[in-house]
Amino acid sequence: MTPRFQKLDTKLVHAGEDRASVRGAVAMPIFQSAMYETAHDDGEPRYIRYNNTPNHEVLHRKLASLENAEAALVTSSGMAAISTAFLSFLSTGDHALVQDCLYGGTHGLVTRSFAGFGITFDFIDGTDPDSWKAKLTPRTKVIYVETVSNPLMGVPELEAVVAFAHEHNLVSMIDNTFASPANFRPAEWGFDLSLHSGTKYLNGHSDVVAGAVIGKAEQVDAVGRKMRHLGGSLDPHACYLLHRGMKTLGVRVARQNESALAVARFLEAHPAVARVSHPGLQSSPDHARASRFFDGYGGMLSFVPAGGVKAAERLFERVTIPLVAPSLGSVESLLTRPAQTSHAGVPREDRERIGIVDELVRMSVGIEDLEELIDDLRRGLD
Ligand SMILES: *Cc1c(COP(=O)(O)O)cnc(C)c1O
Repeated sequence: MTPRFQKLDTKLVHAGEDRASVRGAVAMPIFQSAMYETAHDDGEPRYIRYNNTPNHEVLHRKLASLENAEAALVTSSGMAAISTAFLSFLSTGDHALVQDCLYGGTHGLVTRSFAGFGITFDFIDGTDPDSWKAKLTPRTKVIYVETVSNPLMGVPELEAVVAFAHEHNLVSMIDNTFASPANFRPAEWGFDLSLHSGTKYLNGHSDVVAGAVIGKAEQVDAVGRKMRHLGGSLDPHACYLLHRGMKTLGVRVARQNESALAVARFLEAHPAVARVSHPGLQSSPDHARASRFFDGYGGMLSFVPAGGVKAAERLFERVTIPLVAPSLGSVESLLTRPAQTSHAGVPREDRERIGIVDELVRMSVGIEDLEELIDDLRRGLD
């Protein structure tokens, strides 16, 4: 079928919808039914754990369309997407190359759970492709990176990851949560699988936990089969919330791209701020790569207050617009100290070696009025 919708904002609203099968309902209703009569099945039985009810199928079509990929499936969380994807291509004796600066949950999965499955791994520096080959083993099956690393907003050599995977017959996986399909579409660059925490930008409203796997049909099918065994499927009500939230992804992320860059520039010029990390800043070591790969620099940034942990805490007490909470990608601005939240499980010396000092503040920029948001931050910092 040739896609009728070419542009992301149109696809968000219309792609994958099947109004005829729901009697013309303009909004997708919730099909809260665990199983379906077999008499109506064209192929396999429909069941929520099989991820093939109407609420799943509309999301799968829409998500694949958004990243110009062949296939997609939703999962019960971002970690379900990531763990199921890993376990679909790695078994006892296998080895993976994983980026050294990972989301905390993924870091825990790799460093604490892989050993129990007999899976080994090596960390790689995503910005130094020449160093990867030395870490290959005859059993290396997967290379795994994040589009934008948390919390220092690093951007790996994404094109080199795909080339390396092709050369060495690896499955290339990328956690595309921070970029969202609005800013980066891994399939267009040849990645096999793009993984998402749908909890973040895709849903965008802090009211659901979900995940997504998007990519080549063969690999997505393999993850779908593994998911039926591991059971990390998404409930129809959560599907409905994810679907509803996704429709505004384009307008939300466009605003967040713009606001985050403005906030980053404001912070960079403020005397109470020692350092700002945002790939849109000219000063960012990742700026050139981000400009080459992305349609926008994203809504995430981090900064080091000059006055240390005390200054960070004072800021948290004084601001009235951003909420102090973990997670990201939602309509409201959020502040957090990664050393206390996402990276609390990473030993201090490992943290500081990669630049995650105790006072580092991460900000997920929301869609509030920009002037009011910057005024609020200014009051907190002055
Ligand atoms: C939140 C997050 C995850 C995990 O997602 P959950 O929905 O919380 O399971 C994975 N990767 C990144 C980059 C995240 O921000």
